[in-house]
Amino acid sequence: MPFQPENSYAELDARLSSSCSPTKVLNPQWIAFNEPLAKQLQLPQSALSGAAGLATFSGTAVPDWAQPTALAYAGHQFGNFVPQLGDGRAVLLSEVLDHQGSRFDIQLKGSGRTPYSRGGDGRSPLGPVLREYLVSEAMHRLEVPTTRALAAIATGEMVQREHAQPGAILTRVASSHLRVGTAQFVAAHKDRELLQRFADYVIERHYPHCAAENSPYLALLTAVIDRQASLIAKWMSLGFIHGVMNTDNMTLSGETIDYGPCAFMEAYDPAQVFSSIDRRGRYSYQNQPAIAMWNLARFAETLLPLIDQDPDTAIARATAAVENFDAVYQRYYSKQMSAKLGLSASDAATQQLLEDYLDLMQQQQVDFTLAFRFLGDADNIRSAELFQQHQDWQDWYQRWRQALAQQHPTAADASVALNSVNPAYIPRNHLIEAAISEATNDGSLELFNRLQHLWQSPFVEQPEASEFMRPANQEQQVKRTFC
Ligand code: AMP
Ligand code: MG
Ligand code: MG
Repeated sequence: MPFQPENSYAELDARLSSSCSPTKVLNPQWIAFNEPLAKQLQLPQSALSGAAGLATFSGTAVPDWAQPTALAYAGHQFGNFVPQLGDGRAVLLSEVLDHQGSRFDIQLKGSGRTPYSRGGDGRSPLGPVLREYLVSEAMHRLEVPTTRALAAIATGEMVQREHAQPGAILTRVASSHLRVGTAQFVAAHKDRELLQRFADYVIERHYPHCAAENSPYLALLTAVIDRQASLIAKWMSLGFIHGVMNTDNMTLSGETIDYGPCAFMEAYDPAQVFSSIDRRGRYSYQNQPAIAMWNLARFAETLLPLIDQDPDTAIARATAAVENFDAVYQRYYSKQMSAKLGLSASDAATQQLLEDYLDLMQQQQVDFTLAFRFLGDADNIRSAELFQQHQDWQDWYQRWRQALAQQHPTAADASVALNSVNPAYIPRNHLIEAAISEATNDGSLELFNRLQHLWQSPFVEQPEASEFMRPANQEQQVKRTFC
């Protein structure tokens, strides 16, 4: 299939987007480019190499294959509805089809003001660009559905935040940028025909099987609920805390989007919050499933006019679908977490083992990632070192070993299974902060490049990279993260 840029969403309805060119930057310089992803997207070599690529991904020149557009959306931010948000610092360059015919958006983020910028400058500092590049690509390798990073470019301009910081632009790739907030924006028009065209578009692009269902729009709701339940279960199984689960930051595709104040938990604590703007812990680790369900209820509301002509029937059906989230989520979560213990059955005994292990981790403030990773060791030396109160741990460990032995023919077989689901490396906050600080203060990309490379293989332990496995020490600890 040839390179085939399209603009299907911009063509859907003029009210849903605005054409808008990126703003030129002073002195663009490459930070990173994702060759394999460019190949997957079939981007022509002429669009990428040297000066042409630099101009495209810095927004300095719009290539002939792009029709830059800013998308409109609404959203609930920390529970409050904002009727008009939208791409305030991003433009969609184009949609492209990859080698399998799947459609992807290519978007510049940090590319200047748009009609949706409100008071903002449309720009992004270097730090958030490096963070999104590192974390989104790591999430992909951790097998979590996510937007991807295609390019990062320094603008050569300063961006004014609390301090002046160097600016940068990220090129983000997503199976679409449609969000719960997009559906909310569409629904706010109170135009049934528009709503149906939008919903049909989402079905065709992401859930084509729904088109043939008796109730395609209820099927769409159910499908989005399923994808989100699966996604959140993956986040939870890795200790990932998104940090800003506003409805405009929840995709309809089920991909993780918007790596702002996100962070991975180290010592296990269900109430963990990192984001500096999340003062009440609305988006804490343990609240993520409930918040996802709340967001999905907002999505369900947008679809009501399509679900049934009779409002009461529509509400009853949508409510039942949303209430089913819990059960669907629990199934995914149990499956993920049982696998982290090397156990396939999610029976009561496995549940108890899991609960007891999490309790031990919490009581003894043990690193979540390593507590699971070290279970894959042939011996228990590294596991034992993690737990101060030895006896409690030892009792648990023996119980677990017995359960494990019943499900795996050999210990080596169990190790392989465990190490394939429990990563050795996750994007630890202090490492990301160190990479950002080196790049921002010293202009060095050495640590950024090292981490990027390391996190391409998070399940493969590398003896020379043991320092990157360890949690932060007292001085390194990052307690607050910022957008
Ligand atoms: P976020 O917190 O990234 O989810 O963004 C929330 C809203 O604020 C979105 O509509 C963004 O486009 C907008 N926004 C965030 N930063 C900027 C900025 N620097 N300039 C303009 N709009 C922005
Ligand atoms: Mg328009
Ligand atoms: Mg956002």
